[in-house]
Amino acid sequence: MRSACATIHLAALRANLQRARELAAGARIMAVVKADGYGHGLERVAHALAGADAFGVAAIADGQRLRAAGVHQRIVVLAGPDAPGDLAELRRLRLDAVIHDDAQLAWLEADTDPRPLRLWLKLDTGMHRLGFAPARARELHARLRALPGVDPALVLMTHFANSDVFDDASTARQIECFARATHGLDGEHSLANSAALLGWPAARGQWLRVGGLLYGMSVVAGTTAADFGFAPAMTLATRLVAVHTLREGDHVGYAASWQCPQDMPVGVAAIGYGDGYPRHAASGTPVLVGGRRAAVIGRVSMDLVTIDLRNVPDARVGDAVVLWGPQLPVEQVAAHAGTIAYALTCGVTRRVRFAEDAG
Ligand SMILES: *Cc1c(COP(=O)(O)O)cnc(C)c1O
Repeated sequence: MRSACATIHLAALRANLQRARELAAGARIMAVVKADGYGHGLERVAHALAGADAFGVAAIADGQRLRAAGVHQRIVVLAGPDAPGDLAELRRLRLDAVIHDDAQLAWLEADTDPRPLRLWLKLDTGMHRLGFAPARARELHARLRALPGVDPALVLMTHFANSDVFDDASTARQIECFARATHGLDGEHSLANSAALLGWPAARGQWLRVGGLLYGMSVVAGTTAADFGFAPAMTLATRLVAVHTLREGDHVGYAASWQCPQDMPVGVAAIGYGDGYPRHAASGTPVLVGGRRAAVIGRVSMDLVTIDLRNVPDARVGDAVVLWGPQLPVEQVAAHAGTIAYALTCGVTRRVRFAEDAG
């Protein structure tokens, strides 16, 4: 059996929800669990975060999985229906839907089922991905509330492009634009993602949509979630399968991209991009070998990665190698790989064994 294992820390998930509640100052929390709970496992995460007020998913299929797992909270499909036939499935599963496009509005207006759907009306205040023009908020609000098959308690929402930059003027403009567009309209507000929860208290509204922080990950440049009181919820680890002593001048790995500056011990660990460890992790990316810091050298290959063991000269085959976890922030690994922490945990592949610990 391969040694690569992702251990999910259930207590960290629960503590992170608690920490988010402290910062939320009474606003409700939608735990965003798209992409299989940011790679942590959808059902596992939903059960650990059973205290959340709602769950946010990317697709109806995830709503099906959550209902089958006994999740009773509100579940919001963040991209809404993809086809007219989805409306019946949303009703059957009691899923809320985000409405962001005229095509969806046309399906709703042609629909004759009177059982009320709960909708989140999404306005595009500047990100220019999903959402209606803010100038249409009043018209759309009235049209949706006139439909017998729509619950009149609409939630009004928008999404930020740049909320991880805490002094960014465009976020302030998005908040202002949303306030103007929704002025006088009935309905709760939802603006903030994780970064906005940290840096934009004016964007709190009644519903926060929190993903990354619940898994103990920050996308604020130069920070880790631990800096804000959140705990990493995943440890990715494996073992050394070989230890060599190489000579000064020897090359390591594909394309001979790393050369030994001296005689030195080099370890080989059983993890690679086939497991979701990033191929772009540069030489120098930190790992822990037997709890001590060491570094990736050479190209990451599909099943294996090579490690500079000069800092761990007594390392042996079978020693534990941690790729990220509470002692090695995934945000730091991501920075060495030119990506963000979310992409790393989402990218852990199916051949990696998953385990849970209560701590
Ligand atoms: C993914 C997502 C979120 C959560 O973002 P985080 O940075 O993980 O908190 C919130 N809202 C929407 C619309 C999203 O797609």
